[in-house]
Amino acid sequence: SSTTPRPLIAGNWKMNGLAAALDEARAVAAALEQRPASARVAIFPPSTLLHRLAEAVEGSTVLVGGQDCHPKASGAHTGDISAEMIGDAGGAMVIVGHSERRTDHGETCQQVAAKVEAALAGDLEPVICVGESLEQRQAGEAVSFVVGQLRNSLPDSLQGKAFNVAYEPIWAIGTGHVASVDNIIEMHAAIRAELATRFGEQGRTIPILYGGSVKPENAAEILAAPEVGGALVGGASLKAKDFLAIIQAA
Ligand code: PGA
Repeated sequence: SSTTPRPLIAGNWKMNGLAAALDEARAVAAALEQRPASARVAIFPPSTLLHRLAEAVEGSTVLVGGQDCHPKASGAHTGDISAEMIGDAGGAMVIVGHSERRTDHGETCQQVAAKVEAALAGDLEPVICVGESLEQRQAGEAVSFVVGQLRNSLPDSLQGKAFNVAYEPIWAIGTGHVASVDNIIEMHAAIRAELATRFGEQGRTIPILYGGSVKPENAAEILAAPEVGGALVGGASLKAKDFLAIIQAA
């Protein structure tokens, strides 16, 4: 029988953060030392800060991850970084298939699945993102779209490996329009059903994170909803005080 993993609170800094931001990560690590969290905590800084952030939180419980990785292990791919490089810099996790990657870089589900394969080959624990647009939700296609995206973005090689799924409705990201708890419950149930069908017993405990305008004020209610196994936090992860409030809500 499988045990339920601890929730994961993941801070996605996106393209924000210069060296001064390392102090926020240090403050999170120090606060968790004083008051250990029941959740696992990870910070995903821009690649330029990955190594320095890993050093800044070394010896603490804070995990570090990359925001993306290339599907190949190495080679002529200017501007990209590999899963192995993220690990070499001190990362243990990687976000794959974030909607901003899918939109800004035209990433397809097939490419996302290849990146997940690369993450596993590089010994990184992936956080695989899915989520519908406002148009898809208004057309009543949100659940079918997200389940299809999930099916196509998750390679079979995930079986038996540690990984996380993040549901992030695009219309809730960075907008302040958090999804309703009813929307979250419905989608997380559909994702859980697909994971259980696909991965059996393991599929019943894979953490399903919610992301999209999670803030200290709404975190407790979201994190208490059925099948919500954590949060992927953008804007509110940039300030230690806000991020810690969300961590403590888990
Ligand atoms: P947000 O971003 O919390 O700023 O809405 C979430 C995300 O895109 O991961």
